[in-house]
Amino acid sequence: MKEIKVLVFDFDGTLVNSNTIKHDAYFYLFPNTEKIRKIVRKNISRKPRWDVIEDILNALQKDDLLKPEDLKKEVERLTQKYGEIVEKAMINSSGIHGSFVELWNLKKNYEIYINSGTPTEPIKRIIRELTARKKIPKLTGVLGRENGDETTSKVKNLEKIMKIENITKKEMVMIGDGIFDKQAANLFGCKFIHISKFLKGGMANDQKG
Ligand SMILES: [Mg+2]
Repeated sequence: MKEIKVLVFDFDGTLVNSNTIKHDAYFYLFPNTEKIRKIVRKNISRKPRWDVIEDILNALQKDDLLKPEDLKKEVERLTQKYGEIVEKAMINSSGIHGSFVELWNLKKNYEIYINSGTPTEPIKRIIRELTARKKIPKLTGVLGRENGDETTSKVKNLEKIMKIENITKKEMVMIGDGIFDKQAANLFGCKFIHISKFLKGGMANDQKG
């Protein structure tokens, strides 16, 4: 693996335990009742956050627990708040799979980039905070989602990184936990390693995505 120069990491689910963070964030906004737990469980991975929040508000309204005069406004307000809670939790996170510690080790030998499905502005803010707190080393670059679906956005980012670093696809590896990461690596044409394998020393194995 001596030829590898650049490691490109996904963020959500790869470096931080986003699933738990995103799940728990709903219960900072709403009571932790079976009814709401059910809505969250059913929709969290299928619907965008504002739809989940709208579903919860509608369910609560039926119970007369909450009567937003303007539902849309309330959804907007709570979605914004939800985002803030998630972001704060990520900044306070210590990483998963020991990934933050591993970044410090890897930084000695590789250029490290983030290629995230989260929009550019928030992901940059989160990484900046994590760096300022010395939880992670200073990374070479952070690229988020600009537009288009997650796979397309990740392919575009891989292309950008290749240009910035002036390297070949063979000198890059994408590390992630999701199908989008794998798809993006395959479409772009670089090696893909699942985060769990990577942290177990999988980088030495010739894993064909
Ligand atoms: Mg992920």
